Amino acid sequence: MKAVVVTPRQANTLRIKDVDVPKVPKEHVLLEVQKVGICRTDRDIISGFYGESPKGSDYLVLGHESLSRVSEVGTGVHSLKKGDLVVPTVRRNCFENCLNCRAGESDMCLTGDYKEHGIKELHGFASEYALSDAKFIVKLPEALKQVGVLLEPLTVVEKGEVQTFKIQQSRMKWSPKKALVLGAGPVGLLATAILRLKCLEVSTVATRSKDSPKAQLVMQTGAAYVNSKETSLKSMEDKFDIVFEVTGNPSVALEAQNLIETNGVVCYLGIYRMEQGTEDAGGLFTNMVLGNRVHFGSVNANKFYFEKGVKDLTRIRRKWNGFLEKIITRRSKLEDLERAYSPESEEEIKTIIDVR
Ligand SMILES: [Zn+2]
Ligand SMILES: [Zn+2]
Repeated sequence: MKAVVVTPRQANTLRIKDVDVPKVPKEHVLLEVQKVGICRTDRDIISGFYGESPKGSDYLVLGHESLSRVSEVGTGVHSLKKGDLVVPTVRRNCFENCLNCRAGESDMCLTGDYKEHGIKELHGFASEYALSDAKFIVKLPEALKQVGVLLEPLTVVEKGEVQTFKIQQSRMKWSPKKALVLGAGPVGLLATAILRLKCLEVSTVATRSKDSPKAQLVMQTGAAYVNSKETSLKSMEDKFDIVFEVTGNPSVALEAQNLIETNGVVCYLGIYRMEQGTEDAGGLFTNMVLGNRVHFGSVNANKFYFEKGVKDLTRIRRKWNGFLEKIITRRSKLEDLERAYSPESEEEIKTIIDVR
């Protein structure tokens, strides 16, 4: 079968490799991959920044965002059957099986020795067939067969949202009204939708014009779209109970500090590149202290958030017709690596591979 592979930690080794269809261990499932989503993580691995091959292999199959059908189940698997529409989670328990991994929360792993499909020591799903431990598989209704590939990026938002409310509601009486989303890529748009489902007043900020596809999608959910080229964050007068920072741009993250309401919370979901510090760190910390503000980061998501995400994909689909479909702006075939992995233009949102 064909698989999209790289030699990890070496730039530009992306290629199609002919590999054997894997044998199915007792507790595993063979997946007939339907669709694979591509994001910055894949592009970073291709650039050689990170990525690790499985033990005994000199390559890594890419792909952590996926949608599959069950092709074959191991002899110990009774909860799934051939033909089921499914998405596997990405991370698997650490070698030590730490406190959190043991509790089903490998997204909160303490040791860092976890494995991740398509990223770290486990082959990914950008191939005709792939394997996953059956315990980490989530079933989807047939109605989601066109958009279920967006579940994995949505789970990043689900975790951010659930943790935001858990943190805030455990420390005070809290009734948030306004939320700010910084960034309108796939995760920013999905965050906008999830926060709108909670009936919050949402403003989403990005650099595109108001008639761009991203802005249109933001407005479809009833959120306000702010073009940061016309309205700088510094000049915004609103304060927000919740801020979701998705740009991964430290300057944007710093500029947003003045927009956090008293007792407010900021959830960081980006990966930040090092940047020369020019801001007043004292001012930043004082603002945090005097306003009881919480800042937290969130990465990865466990099965709980995938299951919640399935319900929310269905809700989004019913509420905003075509919203999810329009996030997918570029489609490629498995063999067309150039089309699949070349950089996206600024108007593009999500590239996927139609494996079948
Ligand atoms: Zn991703
Ligand atoms: Zn662990």
